[in-house]
Amino acid sequence: MTPGVRPLVAGNWKMNGLKASLGEIVAMRKAAEAGAVGEAELVVCPPATLISDAAALLAGGPVALGGQDCHPRGSGPHTGDISASMLKDAGASHVIVGHSERRDAYGETDALARAKAEAAGAEGLIAIVCVGETRAEREAGGAVAVVSGQIRGSLPPLSDPRRLVVAYEPVWAIGTGLTPTAEDVAEMHAAIRGLLGEIYGPAGATMRILYGGSVKPANAAELLGLANVDGALVGGASLKAADFLGIAGVCRRG
Ligand code: PEP
Repeated sequence: MTPGVRPLVAGNWKMNGLKASLGEIVAMRKAAEAGAVGEAELVVCPPATLISDAAALLAGGPVALGGQDCHPRGSGPHTGDISASMLKDAGASHVIVGHSERRDAYGETDALARAKAEAAGAEGLIAIVCVGETRAEREAGGAVAVVSGQIRGSLPPLSDPRRLVVAYEPVWAIGTGLTPTAEDVAEMHAAIRGLLGEIYGPAGATMRILYGGSVKPANAAELLGLANVDGALVGGASLKAADFLGIAGVCRRG
């Protein structure tokens, strides 16, 4: 945790969730209102089909809503895409960009992630920009260099960098049950912190850096207790309110 920073725990539902799953979101709100989530700020990112319904259920409460992606343009001939203004209109305040599953499946580049983060910022959304190395890159000893390159390429200049969140997600840890060692996470987050200082100056010291990749209630305390780890981006374990809340519950303000 970083001194003075409120942790953020974001849930990425990916392509999961029907209307029947909205009860999980209601349970998240109730727990947050009851003060059962430590000192974390919560964001849930359901599929786009559920954002409006979720917005109605979360309105006026402590749990924020995010999209999982946005197009860099505001509108136009982009079949199947969603703009940052549409997400905002539907009730979202955050959006994930540059997730490794999109980088892998659709060839999304650092430049595109950066354009999406800029579009999100222009609409007043908080962009959660994902970076992370593959297993081969880590085994070759290049994890910090790879992630540093992604950070330099994916983060936009912003008038208020505190409205930007970085999520370090080793690709090989996502959905696999594997996690890096605490030393490796701490090393990477320290490197990212240094880069944020280079790019954004003093504001970089308090920008949030999340860890993502197989975070569960059982390993959350160790991972989220590390220096420069300001919360988590959670995939599978965010689908059930009890697991998501179990992760958030260990968070303490830095
Ligand atoms: C993710 O998809 O961002 C993620 C971290 O997934 P999981 O928690 O399931 O590894």
